[in-house]
Amino acid sequence: MRRLLSGNEAIALGAYHAGVSVATAYPGTPSTEILENLARLPGPYVEWSANEKVAMEVGLGASYGGVRALVSMKHVGLNVAADPFFAASVTGVRGGLVVVSCDDPGMHSSQGEQDNRHFARFAKIPMLEPSDSQEAYDLMSIAFQLSEEFDTPVMVRSTTRISHCKGVVEIGEAASWQPKRPRFIRDLDKFVMVPSNARKRRPLMEERVATLARWADNFPKNEVIIQNTRLGVIASGAAYQYAREVFKKASFLKLVATYPLPKQLIADFSRQVETLVVVEELDPFMEEQIRAMGLEVKGKEFVPPIGELTIDTLEDSAHRVGLLKNVRRALSRKETQVELPVRPPVLCAGCPHIATSFVLRRLGFYRHLNPLEANEGGKLPSGLRQGGIIATSDIGCYTLAVYPPLLALDTCACMGASIGQALGLEKAGVANKIVAVIGDSTFVHSGITGLVDMVYNQSAGTVVILDNDTTGMTGHQGHPGTGISPRGEKLTKVDLEYLCRGLGVRDVNVVNAFDIAQIEHTLRRCVESEETSVIIARGPCPLKERPTSRPFSIDADRCDGCATCLRLGCPALLREGDKATIDKGRCVGDACGICLQVCPREAIVRAEKEIA
Ligand code: SF4
Ligand code: SF4
Repeated sequence: MRRLLSGNEAIALGAYHAGVSVATAYPGTPSTEILENLARLPGPYVEWSANEKVAMEVGLGASYGGVRALVSMKHVGLNVAADPFFAASVTGVRGGLVVVSCDDPGMHSSQGEQDNRHFARFAKIPMLEPSDSQEAYDLMSIAFQLSEEFDTPVMVRSTTRISHCKGVVEIGEAASWQPKRPRFIRDLDKFVMVPSNARKRRPLMEERVATLARWADNFPKNEVIIQNTRLGVIASGAAYQYAREVFKKASFLKLVATYPLPKQLIADFSRQVETLVVVEELDPFMEEQIRAMGLEVKGKEFVPPIGELTIDTLEDSAHRVGLLKNVRRALSRKETQVELPVRPPVLCAGCPHIATSFVLRRLGFYRHLNPLEANEGGKLPSGLRQGGIIATSDIGCYTLAVYPPLLALDTCACMGASIGQALGLEKAGVANKIVAVIGDSTFVHSGITGLVDMVYNQSAGTVVILDNDTTGMTGHQGHPGTGISPRGEKLTKVDLEYLCRGLGVRDVNVVNAFDIAQIEHTLRRCVESEETSVIIARGPCPLKERPTSRPFSIDADRCDGCATCLRLGCPALLREGDKATIDKGRCVGDACGICLQVCPREAIVRAEKEIA
């Protein structure tokens, strides 16, 4: 049977056919669809965990219970999960434990770029890298077997291109879900890592790496392709596909097992070619290890170490260092190079985060002195001065409020950091009032501990939880605050209001996310208070369930073009000549109504007809 699958779909189906019993994840591009696809299949237990650390711990527990477990996350998620990830390497497993890290070269939707191959080496666990959907599918059953045979978690590393590109996958006709029988066998030496036991496990980890290196030398998916022997290319993952396009006549060593490296195989290959190069995205991970073997190899002097590799970049740089004589752009690529319209990074029409962001900007650190000046061209307008509230932001779609025209936020680092940063600024003695802004999903992910710290350390800060009842940025997944499972079932919902009160916050407020006056009034009061306060700004995401209501329009006779409404950054509000206008196809009307509240001329009115 053949199916057209993306890398993520193939990983999910491969794990399913390998008999995975427990799958855990926190959504994050480019990894999200792995769990979403598993949730469509009957049998395994699937969960959106509160964060990646919890996901890893649940997966590890399931493995101790003798069943196969899959834990998936985006690259930065592995930073969150690092503690149990390293612990899993020490204890080893019972049922196979596979950890999928989906890296994002080029930072298409991430706050940073990192090469997670280092994590496998750092934790001394084997790593497999698929270079297409077929391999992604096939590697899952190999990874589970490897995990059980060598008593180790196994890391499978994908990148955005592999995760999201579709390819034809051959699946055995008889493939089905056949889970292992759960069974926990008490083994204190293996599962209880008191120092005396951990010391015994440590040499076993080194032995495991040495044995795995010998295994990798004979692993049939590490493929040698001998063509012209003047140039030999070592590559893996998406970089292998780019290298095949550029160096059409060269010989290749395609590596799927990239940690530990198959040293004998590499040495044998190097003897068969005149010039040896490594093509890899991001860091010189293989190159440095190959050079340490005493082999002469080229790599990062022509393959850029930053950003996503493309065929064009590789071709140009190979030409520059004399590895290619002519640069020939493939015709197919030229024909498909269509200029796409530029889409400015703004919140959506009807977004429940707009009003709070607008208020934060109005009270914000940089205050706009000249209300008649438009914020165009993506630059900070002139006429700004310091003062007012500092807004530390977290990671979510609301982070888009950092861009013009909202300009509402002052920091953004990583998941959950906004609250700790706010406390840090306060304790540093910064004179401004400080507000931490965090989404509902992110709050559950890693904001709770920050709030505990605020309460304990008697912070006077304010946390605004932007609660749109979903994980918006990654495509509307459930989380403990929604009580919705990956299969769409209703589970127990963690009540954020009670949770905050339970953590010791006495000043907890729930406001309507579309009511500017209520938000502003509550925020002004909270920042003046001397105790920790929480404002939950609640309103649904309009993309999750598009509201049916009448859109608004603008009475051109009343509008004087003051541009106050345009500073909301709602993409349904546009400038037409010297007046404002509303795109009725985008406006959600009564379900939002924010612009109605800010227009000083009462020029915004309800339209005649209902929208679908
Ligand atoms: S609709 Fe109102 S706020 Fe918008 S430009 Fe016209 S007068 Fe100003
Ligand atoms: S009501 Fe106003 S702010 Fe809300 S979606 Fe429509 S145009 Fe945008």
